[in-house]
Amino acid sequence: MQEILFLLLPLAFYSGWNAARKRNRQQQQTQTPAPSPQFVRGINFLLNEEPDKALDIFLQAPVIESQTAETFLLLGNMFRNRGEVNRALRVHQHLVARPDLNNSQRQAAMLALGEDFFAAGMLDRAENVFREIIEHYPDNAQAAEPLLHIYEQLQDWDKAIALSERAGQDKNRFIAHYYCEKAEAYIQENQLYKADENLKKAHSAYAASARVKVLQAELALARHDYGAAFNHFRAALEKDPRLPGRLAPRLLEIYGGRPELAQWYLFFKHHYELKPDAHLFPVLLDFAQASAHTAELEPLIQAHFSAGPVTLQTVARSLQLLQQQAVPTETFMPALSQGLNRLAQADSRFQCGQCGYKMQDYLWRCPACQRWDSVVSN
Ligand SMILES: [Zn+2]
Repeated sequence: MQEILFLLLPLAFYSGWNAARKRNRQQQQTQTPAPSPQFVRGINFLLNEEPDKALDIFLQAPVIESQTAETFLLLGNMFRNRGEVNRALRVHQHLVARPDLNNSQRQAAMLALGEDFFAAGMLDRAENVFREIIEHYPDNAQAAEPLLHIYEQLQDWDKAIALSERAGQDKNRFIAHYYCEKAEAYIQENQLYKADENLKKAHSAYAASARVKVLQAELALARHDYGAAFNHFRAALEKDPRLPGRLAPRLLEIYGGRPELAQWYLFFKHHYELKPDAHLFPVLLDFAQASAHTAELEPLIQAHFSAGPVTLQTVARSLQLLQQQAVPTETFMPALSQGLNRLAQADSRFQCGQCGYKMQDYLWRCPACQRWDSVVSN
């Protein structure tokens, strides 16, 4: 598609160029035949894959009309998309330097130039261009996002925070993450007071953040306060149901051999009973094993096989543990068979090649998009 657009460029150029010429002609009351030999030469260079020579000619255009400016922008963007960043830079730099652009053309050209610098890996120059846009055109919201990406890439969290605060709306979650990044670094460097300060700012930016709780726990650990760490970890886990899988190895590492381990087991057991979750189940098994509740492993697994949310992962982990515990096969075989049957039922065997709808049985027509003969086996 891009290639086709690229080939259409000469046409776009022609209309832009021609419009400019017509207006000139009206102003000067002179009759000049269009298109000019200059322009034809430029097109020829472009078609002969000699874009630099084409650019030499195009960039000499005496007057920039709105259409010509748009075409230049487009041409530069296409060069950038093709990975020819130097050519993109040449076009957009030329455009920005022209005195005859209107306000919105200049902003668009500067934005494109910033993106060229970013694509070229010249982050400091990209930063300067985007900042200039924000300073000169405070209403232009388009420069804030790429500028934020640059600060994130440079891990310049202070500037990211300042920019997000300026942008205002719906940036609080990001601001909390930026403060958390800083706090994490301070914990690593054992600058605990500064870590604490940043976590407080993160919390006031976005009180619902589970990450702030996790880092408060890590900070408490750095201060050897296992009790406070336990409470913060628990708060984090209660805020974010996706966290157990991520936090479990860390919790086992911290609390292995400590009295709180049994409390963690009860915590996860309670949560699994409230809401049986396939991601939580392996964590529950790990804590049962680590906290010497091994007698509870077999009943837990039996119940999971019979009625729990079985997945390939929970079955594999369960069988591994049953084997380690030397549980005889025949005691869990009926439950396992039940669980595998449910798993097989849930596993779709066919899928519509058109819309992606999944189904158990082969159908002549997809029930979702109604297309004939679109169903393929999964
Ligand atoms: Zn379909």
